[in-house]
Amino acid sequence: MKNIYGNRQLLDILAGMAASGRTAHSLLICGEKGSGRKLIAKYYTQALMCEAPDKGRPCGACVSCVNIEKGIHPDVIYPEKSGKLGNYSVTAARDVIADAYVRPNNSSGCKVYIFADCHNVDLRTQNALLKLIEEPPDYAYFIFTSGSKSEFLPTIISRCVCFNTALCTEDEAVQALAESGYEQSAVKAAVSCFHGNIGMCESYINDEELRKRVDLTKSLADSIIRKDEYALNAGLFALGKEREDVREVLTMLDKLMRDAAVLEKDVNADTIGCSREGAERLSRALTAYQSARIHSCIERAWNAVESNVNIPLALTALGAEIMEIVG
Ligand SMILES: [Zn+2]
Repeated sequence: MKNIYGNRQLLDILAGMAASGRTAHSLLICGEKGSGRKLIAKYYTQALMCEAPDKGRPCGACVSCVNIEKGIHPDVIYPEKSGKLGNYSVTAARDVIADAYVRPNNSSGCKVYIFADCHNVDLRTQNALLKLIEEPPDYAYFIFTSGSKSEFLPTIISRCVCFNTALCTEDEAVQALAESGYEQSAVKAAVSCFHGNIGMCESYINDEELRKRVDLTKSLADSIIRKDEYALNAGLFALGKEREDVREVLTMLDKLMRDAAVLEKDVNADTIGCSREGAERLSRALTAYQSARIHSCIERAWNAVESNVNIPLALTALGAEIMEIVG
């Protein structure tokens, strides 16, 4: 089984639950994208369904563990995201409800539903799932992974055992990526962008599109430093119309603004964004107050995109607001 870095305590709690038989039927795992939410969901599922628990629970080697790892276990179900905003629709919830009353067909006697990357989950979907989560069949388990608890209704949260993932240290990330066989130079570049977030580091190495979005983020920061309205708007326009892409770049830009504000107070502070060098230049070009105001604008633009405002329109407004702030 692949070594999981970080979150050791959380993994031990989950394995302990499975071993004692006092298992939580509904789990909510929150944390940054790339911080291992899905790995942890799989780990708990393996611990529940492992066929050789005496070899360490989960053993990582039995048919069950291997199939869960590969995502092909017939009783581990990933409901489809068929909603309009790429979210879980009420139809998906109804399918799960119908399926949850069909007994599993494996030696562990468990059936696990993993709702990965929950975001913008329809209230009707949540309400539909509520009763099932409240009184699940004894073999059924539900795991939700998400960026934040706030994505869910309090009624759902109160029925889940909630955990937060933590990011690894940069050293752990370097070690984990080296173990996965990545080249040293690629690892170094990835960790300088995404620090202890192993999932994002791995995407950075493998996904050219993500590398382009990182470059785009850096060039947006650059345009802000140069107060170049034309370049800023061209950059925002180049973001395209894919909600997830827009979200990713705005999140990265926001982290740079955060870093710039922090660095203005303390040049040796740790940074969390994709370019320390970019953040340093931002911190010299802007006051912490300006950085904070840009942060608010980015948040507003993101909320507009989330609530289905036309994306180019929201981004044009963002460009104008930023230019007004840096004036
Ligand atoms: Zn196993």
